[in-house]
Amino acid sequence: MRAQLSLPEPMYAGTDHCRSDRPPRPWPTRIDRLSSRTVAAIHREESRRPYDEGLWPGATATALAACRSFLTLPGRWLYLRRGYCACEQCDLRNDIAVARDLLELTVHRLPRRPRRELEALLAGLDEELWRRTVPDPFAHRQQHRGGAWWHRRLYDLDHLL
Ligand SMILES: [Zn+2]
Repeated sequence: MRAQLSLPEPMYAGTDHCRSDRPPRPWPTRIDRLSSRTVAAIHREESRRPYDEGLWPGATATALAACRSFLTLPGRWLYLRRGYCACEQCDLRNDIAVARDLLELTVHRLPRRPRRELEALLAGLDEELWRRTVPDPFAHRQQHRGGAWWHRRLYDLDHLL
């Protein structure tokens, strides 16, 4: 079990970046700072078949890791980024708004106790995301940027990944 925890996350390097559309094997047994009970509840939801409602095994861990690594970027202000490859897997890793949407989906699927734990974790992440990203005053002109507030922060469009 120990060795599994240190498996490198498949990263979007070179031409291999889209090959991560398969569930990670083994599935993460630890996710961020969540208790094992909550991790188990997440896995149960992610494993429901068919995987056609926006979650799949490992998706929550990937989304949380994407948010964490975004927040470790240097600088006072962070700008959201998009990738060239518009596939679901790459978006989840590159676009924090997509990652945050997925976490929202997970949170609403969970039973009460694990949901509270994930909500508390997300509250901290949201606070940091809110503080370090910049509101986009023109986002309302773009219909596809409705939904939660994280869709209306400024993107760095010169930095297509
Ligand atoms: Zn891709």
